[in-house]
Amino acid sequence: MRIEKADRLKRLPPYLFKEIDRQKEQVRAKGIDIIDLGVGDPDLPTPPHIIEALKRAGSDPANHRYPSYSGMGEFNAAVAKWYKQRFDVDPDASTEVVTLIGSKEGIAHIPLAFINPGDIALVASPGYPVYHIGTQFAGGTPYFMDLLKENRFLPDLEAISPEVAQKAKMMFINYPNNPTAAVATKDFFESVVAFAREHDVIVCHDAAYSEMAFDGYRPMSFLEVEGAKSVGIEFHSLSKTYNMTGWRIGFAVGCADVISALGQVKSNIDSGAFQAVQIAGITALEGDQACVEDMRQTYAERRDILVAGLRSVGLSVDKPCATFYLWVEVPEGYTSAGFASLLLTEAGIVTTPGNGFGAAGEGYVRMALTVDRERIREAVERMSRLGP
Ligand SMILES: *Cc1c(COP(=O)(O)O)cnc(C)c1O
Repeated sequence: MRIEKADRLKRLPPYLFKEIDRQKEQVRAKGIDIIDLGVGDPDLPTPPHIIEALKRAGSDPANHRYPSYSGMGEFNAAVAKWYKQRFDVDPDASTEVVTLIGSKEGIAHIPLAFINPGDIALVASPGYPVYHIGTQFAGGTPYFMDLLKENRFLPDLEAISPEVAQKAKMMFINYPNNPTAAVATKDFFESVVAFAREHDVIVCHDAAYSEMAFDGYRPMSFLEVEGAKSVGIEFHSLSKTYNMTGWRIGFAVGCADVISALGQVKSNIDSGAFQAVQIAGITALEGDQACVEDMRQTYAERRDILVAGLRSVGLSVDKPCATFYLWVEVPEGYTSAGFASLLLTEAGIVTTPGNGFGAAGEGYVRMALTVDRERIREAVERMSRLGP
């Protein structure tokens, strides 16, 4: 018989990292030592006190049964308490918080709650691909808001035409930002709330990197802004903050009607996150936060070494105050793909071509600070040998 994929899969944009993946395999096959600055996955282990909590909770048969799809009351309460302490925002744990199987799960599913065929979701280019793919899976149409350097990589809401704004049902934003490492201002969030109110657009702010910020900078929550809680929600994740990408635990907080619709979708698709993981998550949120400060120190040091190194070889890069990414301009005469390919084949360094995150990412490569200081120094050394 013929196995025919559904149109939603056939319509997926071409996978732009295919060429770089192929080249990576070729370089590896030659026995060349690869320094991988491509993946946004922390290289450090989950802190021991969180692992211990998982071990204890995993041994308790009470945690072996189906969890509640909306999250354990205790986890949602820990999230509400964390929000109060961290942002001075006071969500209701029972109506304004939902537990997610990683924030990607919630981001991918939320369009199913709000998007009808023909509806538009406003998403950033470059951006995390899940926003537009989740939109397309729900039958909607993504509209790409370009993030440009001259706008400090914030979308220009005034550039959105009235026709698009009228058809827009949702907007996804993400600060601190992957891949550009840009951060948002309060003014920007206020303009998002005003836009959302004017056009009835549900705002989804992805705050996966809210805790990964340096030099004393503490990103604000979208929900700190007046009126934000009536227009949208904020996605959060334990993945980056506590080196827990493999554990699959995150949450969303905000507008009760939006949270409840997302919960309704989830109740028909999944059965919640493993309770032992939720209990370990409570330990992460309520326990000693020294591990988070250590994480910040580690990435800040790596950032300083790589930024200085890149500048010493003549590359142009802003020093980011958040996220573990550097958004590096490619030299004159190169495309994103061409430069990523040069670094890989001539220096064994994997980076991510910026256009893989959207057309407006052309002209950049993303480097992730997910290897240790020695390897970063080695990468800089190899780049300097490449010459100008
Ligand atoms: C890593 C990341 C996430 C987190 O995903 P999880 O599913 O929670 O592991 C969400 N958004 C962005 C932009 C990310 O880079």
